[in-house]
Amino acid sequence: MAAYRRSALCPSKRGGAWRKAASLVAPAIPEDVAGALENAAAQLDDDPDVVALVLEGVMYQIVGAWYVRHGLGVPLRQHLLADLERRRAPLAWRVRLALRAPDVRARLVQARALLRALGEDGATDSGPAVNRHDASGRQGIRSVLYARKDQYTMSVEEELNQSVAYTPLQRMRHSAAHVMAEAVQDLFPGARFAIGPAIEDGFYYDMELPRALTPDDLPAIEERMRASIAARHPFVPSRWSREKALAYFRERDQPYKVEIIENLPDAEVGIYEHGPFLDLCRGPHVDHTGQIGPVKLMRVAGAYWRGDEHRPMLQRLYGTAWFSQAELDAYVERLEEARRRDHRKIGKDLELFMLSEEVGAGLPLWLPKGATVRRLLEEYILGVERAQGYQHVYTPHLAKLELYKTSGHWEHYQDTMYPPMEMESGEQLVLRPMNCPHHIQIYKQRTRSYRDLPIRIAELGTMYRLEKSGELSGLSRVRAMTLNDAHIFCTPEQMLPEFVKVVKLIQEAYQVLGFEHYSYRLSLRDPNDKVKFEDNEAMWQQSEAALRQALNQLDLPYYVGVGDAAFYGPKLDVQVANVLGKDETISTIQLDFTLPERFSLEYIGEDGHPHRPVMIHRGVLSTMERFMAFLIENYAGNFPVWLAPVQAEVIPIADRHLVYAEQVAERLRAAGLRVEVDGRAERMNAKVRDAQLQKVPYMLVVGDKEAASEGVSLRLRTNENIGAVPLAQFVEVASRLNAERSQELWPTKASA
Ligand SMILES: [Zn+2]
Ligand SMILES: [Zn+2]
Repeated sequence: MAAYRRSALCPSKRGGAWRKAASLVAPAIPEDVAGALENAAAQLDDDPDVVALVLEGVMYQIVGAWYVRHGLGVPLRQHLLADLERRRAPLAWRVRLALRAPDVRARLVQARALLRALGEDGATDSGPAVNRHDASGRQGIRSVLYARKDQYTMSVEEELNQSVAYTPLQRMRHSAAHVMAEAVQDLFPGARFAIGPAIEDGFYYDMELPRALTPDDLPAIEERMRASIAARHPFVPSRWSREKALAYFRERDQPYKVEIIENLPDAEVGIYEHGPFLDLCRGPHVDHTGQIGPVKLMRVAGAYWRGDEHRPMLQRLYGTAWFSQAELDAYVERLEEARRRDHRKIGKDLELFMLSEEVGAGLPLWLPKGATVRRLLEEYILGVERAQGYQHVYTPHLAKLELYKTSGHWEHYQDTMYPPMEMESGEQLVLRPMNCPHHIQIYKQRTRSYRDLPIRIAELGTMYRLEKSGELSGLSRVRAMTLNDAHIFCTPEQMLPEFVKVVKLIQEAYQVLGFEHYSYRLSLRDPNDKVKFEDNEAMWQQSEAALRQALNQLDLPYYVGVGDAAFYGPKLDVQVANVLGKDETISTIQLDFTLPERFSLEYIGEDGHPHRPVMIHRGVLSTMERFMAFLIENYAGNFPVWLAPVQAEVIPIADRHLVYAEQVAERLRAAGLRVEVDGRAERMNAKVRDAQLQKVPYMLVVGDKEAASEGVSLRLRTNENIGAVPLAQFVEVASRLNAERSQELWPTKASA
């Protein structure tokens, strides 16, 4: 505690704040939070500023988790927040900055240990603040409150509740949403407003307007926003009675605001006013509009009121705002880059895959070049799995509906399953949405002894999910997909080592694929959602504890995603940063105590009695479709040599060099390389350019000189001209890079 008091950052105030919050929270938490915080403070001795920051971060995590868990009433929440809000917001940023310093890592480990000791949901949430790889570097701490999914489709009530947990950036963006509404109100008298939250990378406001907005409207709205920002209008909060608020919004013909208030249980509602605009809002906001950074309006989309297609379609105007022009510019640049790398565009340009109206939406066809890449990935992962004792199987893509009733998929997953096919025999068959039940049957093929375990059954398993047509996109969101799937059946004692093995397999694969920015998400159920998640408290507790234990043993930094679990159990998702710096789940590991129970799985233990095995579901490369989409964007189509559909293009300068070109190609093919000869009657430069556009790693130009010397003139797709290389040397180097699955295109001079 002494160290804490020494904090240069206003120690008494700081101590007072957390002590107060802890004392409010403590009665509901089994452990003594205040005591635990003090203990940690005593241990985190030598850097008082960091200690203070870490502890405050910890406290907010706990408080945040506690709100969620107990669905705190507004009065207490506001009481707490009023006390915490002012300090909390900048805190997230300072903690983050502090934690980035390399010497702080050890402290984080201790902070995590503290959180574990507290046994709170919020505990592991220190993960992102602490260690999370974050490509964009701009996301603040993710608290449980806003690590939830589906930010775009959350309920109005949920939305309102979220704003209280806004980071400074989100708060500024939400303030920009108010200013945008002000501008719209000014330009479109009679506009009706719904909600205007901060979202990832920006904000929006849902509005009903006299006419549809077009991109041409955006500059005028932006212009007025800038005027409002320049005017530095203060954001003034107040509390109104329901009656007063209802009367106010009814009088101004704001039916959406009226509906929101009618659904609020509270006697009082929050109001925020800035300049000429008044809104129903819980806040928080920046102090005045002058604190809003550079803004840019992005686009207009349609959105049903409350996401309900039977309610009015509103216009959703998206904008973004950043603390500095440089950040805004960088964001716009990232969007541009993402557009350039869009796998749908590159997939078409490089002829990797196609979609056909005749075949159907969400059912991609892999073209020869895309299929080559996929096959190489499959061969790679199958090889790694074989080396780790996985046994590969083939199972059919459909099965009796009964199988999925037993598994629980029908109960929890029906919305995304294709409807049953009625057979004449009265049987009902469905396309499988997952492969687990088939693999379970293989496990049950005969009596298993503890000596047989672990049994690792793997398959590139094709499955079908009825995704909404509006959500289908290229290869990333499809209706037929092949999962790099496996199910490990093991004893409870083997569960931990098996889990660790899978994590290591994932890490190894990522290294080969050149993924550097990834993080681990512990995906838990939403305890309030009994429909989506199996209602079995003991199972969830047990499997969550087991997962946390495994993560701690590996000392993996991780963060918590509430509501991201599978229906049968919690999982570890490996989140890889995409080109936009956003996380996508690529790999996943799930501990499952549910399906072994549902299918009465058994093994005969050492004691001669039957026991229940544990199941681990795992996917390393995710589905081949999603993985391919991700890889295309990750590499911008520039596949490493070992994955490039065509590795070398032989380009004869004139027709008379065709014979030698074919000899070169033969030599490369014999070495196992994929090669094409461009025999078209085009100019050499045009052929080189075309090969570059096709992202072919090597262009081998051959003319008289090369034919005479048994060489090639080598150019790389990066436009680097290596020049004359003996053919034998080219074959040797390219074969080595290919066999090593190297990320290197050609050795630099030093290493050559
Ligand atoms: Zn607001
Ligand atoms: Zn499974």
